[in-house]
Amino acid sequence: MSDVRNVIIIGSGPAGYTAAVYAARAELRPLVFEGSITAGGALMNTTEVENFPGFPDAIMGPDLMDSMRKQAERFGAELVPEDVTSVDLTKPVKEVTAGDETFLAHTVILATGSGYRELGVPGEKELSGRGTSWCATCDGFFFRDQDIAVVGGGDTAMEEALFLTRFAKSVTVIHRRDELRASKIMADRAFANDKISFLWDTEVTEVLGEDRVSGLKLRNTRTGEGDTLDVTGLFVAIGHDPRVDLFKDQIDLDEEGYVQVEFPSTRTNLEGVFAAGDVVDHQYRQAITAAGTGCSAALDAERFLAEHG
Ligand code: FAD
Repeated sequence: MSDVRNVIIIGSGPAGYTAAVYAARAELRPLVFEGSITAGGALMNTTEVENFPGFPDAIMGPDLMDSMRKQAERFGAELVPEDVTSVDLTKPVKEVTAGDETFLAHTVILATGSGYRELGVPGEKELSGRGTSWCATCDGFFFRDQDIAVVGGGDTAMEEALFLTRFAKSVTVIHRRDELRASKIMADRAFANDKISFLWDTEVTEVLGEDRVSGLKLRNTRTGEGDTLDVTGLFVAIGHDPRVDLFKDQIDLDEEGYVQVEFPSTRTNLEGVFAAGDVVDHQYRQAITAAGTGCSAALDAERFLAEHG
């Protein structure tokens, strides 16, 4: 067991590193668990980020995360490239365990993000950032005048498809059933849009392309018949899973399984435990919003320590 620290931050995406910058500059010497293979978070899997303010010529996702990391380190954040394996957040002094070592802290900031659901087909991961995307707001702009596809049948898929019609020449919605799960209002909007067409009872079995997406292999879920579709973009919109396994038995979650906070603060139901970024947010899911709530979490932790110090 170690001394009791002021702040432990779990996660190293935009939320975790921003919380680290603020906590470090407040002289709280935060300890940041970055994760063993996914240090840097979701943006490590992408190419150009064009919508993070301050980079008029865009910045590569990994470069942005590397800069955030350096900025946190410069002010004295202690960064550990390990996974937290268990936590006890219920007591006034929190326990955070990584492997066989347990660390203690007065406050903990949860910034573990969320994972997008994948189709799990060949070519999907390989062409991520090269035509395959999980975020229309992030990447729609790159698909001007192109034929693209959206996989999914829920509200998010319809929202993504509708948003993408601003840029794309055509949007084909591929859904494995013969009716949408989306609300009637979203479905009606999608049906009414001339640029959107639907492929029912259909699933993607492979994403085709060498350096970039050039098409999709499809299979009819009723007949088993195969087909192909020529598209240069694929948006996978089949849902996200917040990474809450570590603490879901201790923290209140909302009905969709995300960490519940006392909005607009980042306070959870447990004293001294704060949460930020995509593990809380199923609405916006952007690097800048994650960074914003990461800042709030550090300020909330700082105030908590001042009040309970
Ligand atoms: P994440 O970035 O997901 O980071 C979570 C962190 O938690 C990771 O470092 C992980 O290692 C860590 N972690 C999880 N569990 C543990 C554990 N047990 N122990 C230790 N660490 C743990 N947004 C934009 O604004 N612009 C874009 O152009 C853009 N492009 C995107 C492209 C792709 C392919 C994807 C997937 C997302 C994109 N996004 C973009 C969305 C953006 O990346 C996310 O909104 C943002 O990264 C969320 O930040 P976060 O800090 O909450 O979580």
